[in-house]
Amino acid sequence: MVLVSVVSSAVALGTVPSVDPAVRSVLAEAVEVARAALNELGEGVVGAYLGVTAEDECAATHRFAADLAGYHGWQWAVVVAAAPESDHVTVSELVLLPGPESLVAPEWVPWNERIRPGDLGPGDLLAPAPDDERLVPGYTASGDPDVDETAGEIGLGRKQVMSLEGRLDAAQRWFDGEYGPHSEMAKSAPSTCMLCGFYLPLAGSLRAAFGVCGNEFAADGHVVHAEFGCGAHSDTTLPTGAGSPQFDAYDDGAVEIVELPAATAEQTENATLEQTESAAATENAQSEQTD
Ligand code: SF4
Repeated sequence: MVLVSVVSSAVALGTVPSVDPAVRSVLAEAVEVARAALNELGEGVVGAYLGVTAEDECAATHRFAADLAGYHGWQWAVVVAAAPESDHVTVSELVLLPGPESLVAPEWVPWNERIRPGDLGPGDLLAPAPDDERLVPGYTASGDPDVDETAGEIGLGRKQVMSLEGRLDAAQRWFDGEYGPHSEMAKSAPSTCMLCGFYLPLAGSLRAAFGVCGNEFAADGHVVHAEFGCGAHSDTTLPTGAGSPQFDAYDDGAVEIVELPAATAEQTENATLEQTESAAATENAQSEQTD
């Protein structure tokens, strides 16, 4: 029997084909028909026979190892079919499929679930979802120029505005973020943004807790919480005793104190003699210049 000989050769190669007992014998025995179809396809090497599984009463799938570079663990699958009571087998489909040990791409995730803050680049378009809960309809033009102009001036001239949920989400992000009241910078600041001359409060309901920093040496252009703060606060004064900027500070921690061996009486006497001779020579030179 053909199937028996295939099983024997597969065992000899170290692979044991799995044979689904539900597969009709005429389909199970069509291993060489399936292999011949793959060889005729000519897409790559057809490796060891791996087994057959039933699709239904009239169809079964034979699988072969696909020895293809870059496709470790993938398998050729050949679907064969035979009508009920028939012993004539035809090939329905040939396909390359990943096996249990294949390296496959991770499950596809839609872009709107993949996108992250900071992903948007110049020229990219990112339309909000039609049901984006961060937005609600804004003011609709009335057609009266006076009314519409006034509405535009007070910020009502937009098709959509941020919803309460949207504003609460933004406020929570800013509160928890780098410029929130619990950041390390805020904890060591001498005072808060709320009391700083560089603090520009936001308009609307967020004004109560948030503003923009206008200090180019601090959080310039960022939304800061009213209780954030930094060392560049407008009321900051330098501590007294900070030293003169014209002189470098003398770091006495960098001085190493060493003990020199005591000078002998002879060395001391010689040094004194040298100093005396030097002073006398200087005195003579000065008196000669005077004469
Ligand atoms: S300079 Fe500092 S304290 Fe003042 S608004 Fe900016 S971040 Fe706040």
